[in-house]
Amino acid sequence: MSGTIVMPAPDQHILARRDAIHQALAAVLPADGLITAPDELRAYECDALTAYRCAPLAVVLPRSTEEVAAAMRVCHQMGVKVVPRGAGTSLAGGALPTADSVVIGTMRLRDVLELDLESRFIRVQCGVTNLSVSAELEPHGFFYAPDPSSQLACTIAGNIGMNSGGAHCLKYGVTTNNLMAAKVVLVTGEVVEFGGPEPGAAGLDMLGLFCGSEGQLGIVTEAILRILPRPEGARPVLIGFGDAVTAGECVARIIRSGVLPVAIEYMDEPCLRAVEAFARAGYPECPAVLIVEVEGAPEEIDHQIAAIREIAGALNPVEFRESRSEAEAVAIWKGRKSAFGAMGRLGDYLCLDGTVPVSKLPATLKRIGELSAQYGLEVANVFHAGDGNMHPLILFNANKPGDLEKAEAFGADILRACVEAGGCLTGEHGVGIEKRDLMGAQYGPDDLAIQMEIKSLFDPDWLLNPAKVYPLEASAPFRAGKGGAA
Ligand SMILES: Cc1cc2nc3c(=O)[nH]c(=O)nc-3n(C[C@H](O)[C@H](O)[C@H](O)COP(=O)(O)OP(=O)(O)OC[C@H]3O[C@@H](n4cnc5c(N)ncnc54)[C@H](O)[C@@H]3O)c2cc1C
Repeated sequence: MSGTIVMPAPDQHILARRDAIHQALAAVLPADGLITAPDELRAYECDALTAYRCAPLAVVLPRSTEEVAAAMRVCHQMGVKVVPRGAGTSLAGGALPTADSVVIGTMRLRDVLELDLESRFIRVQCGVTNLSVSAELEPHGFFYAPDPSSQLACTIAGNIGMNSGGAHCLKYGVTTNNLMAAKVVLVTGEVVEFGGPEPGAAGLDMLGLFCGSEGQLGIVTEAILRILPRPEGARPVLIGFGDAVTAGECVARIIRSGVLPVAIEYMDEPCLRAVEAFARAGYPECPAVLIVEVEGAPEEIDHQIAAIREIAGALNPVEFRESRSEAEAVAIWKGRKSAFGAMGRLGDYLCLDGTVPVSKLPATLKRIGELSAQYGLEVANVFHAGDGNMHPLILFNANKPGDLEKAEAFGADILRACVEAGGCLTGEHGVGIEKRDLMGAQYGPDDLAIQMEIKSLFDPDWLLNPAKVYPLEASAPFRAGKGGAA
């Protein structure tokens, strides 16, 4: 596989100093905190965007903020680029190394440091997985809201890096809405803290700036996360429709009605076929299915479901299935939760992540269908419909020459269509390398220049997470230290 995304040639001066860099890192880290053997480095050569691979110069696996800072100081002094990495589940190539960079992986930082139920926060080291935070909170009747489908593996560090979301973010927001503070190691090795357990600190919103910065501004090692009391109950309903446009209309009407479900998930026919073959979830055979989950006290749930039944009923659904027990609720979610695994069995896929205003969902789905016919590649749609966060999965054959490139061009057209519809390039997966060269479709040159000036303030030599987020050509003057107001 080759693909269309270009990575810069490695810095030969850095490669020539490989041994000296290894020795300098070894001097500040415990023996098991540094990987330099080529065979072992291969485990870090890609993230979940597996079409792109490159073994790094070294991998550092610190156990404390101090070790992260020590490694950063060495890299900074020697002019070595650094790729921050959590669990490596980024679908955008956000944690892809370059041959002249050192990966600093924070997955060994996994202690829970403090739980304050009265003030409703949990303080954790950032290598903890998203799911383990909720597991920690469960016995206390609390939960952490952002729930990426990858939550079993992905870390809080990566969630902060990508400002991740999930099915239940419609009601509670994404990571930035649930992050209260972060401890960050800057490129020089200095340690700073943004935010705190009390809301509304004075001054610039540095935490908001850092959340979603994709490893461009520093390495996060600890975080304070907002926690919420578990609702009394939650119940999903499944609604099948005879066409995608009507399903999209149903989403728009639910949102317009003022009912605020925790999740509205959408699956189209290709996805439903794959899910049925994989998980036998018992979903209806129809072109589009919505799963809508509401929560609260029993009477509140009944009230919301009645409203949704009325809205959906006016649109002649082919099926309206209510869960009446925990087992029925699990059965409704079963297929959606296994959708990514099911699609993986069909072959290689690119998972996109654009957003559109909810009112533009039907038209955008139609456009994706037209593009699918034009490119001759099948696409399956499974996504968070309530907040217009689309995840078209483009199926291709990695062994067929030219197919990946075709899939990437198709994906770029879909993302441009999202922007044209008033949406944006990424709802939750981030830019990484995948959408780097499309940033000009979303931002004008002045907008991009301001972002890159801010990056230059934190990282004047552009050592952090190279070749991600900003198009190579537009960022060249900034990387050369010559960027300025556009
Ligand atoms: C099957 C599957 C399903 C997914 N579902 C969802 C979903 O529902 N919602 C969603 O939002 N995402 C989803 N993702 C994408 C991915 O899981 C998220 O982006 C996740 O937050 C990445 O976490 P990670 O720990 O794997 O980070 P990585 O992939 O290692 O890194 C992600 C980004 O964060 C940066 N980073 C990592 N650690 C640090 C650090 N310590 N300091 C600073 N920056 C850092 C990296 O440089 C990179 O830019 C899915 C991925 C897969 C494979």
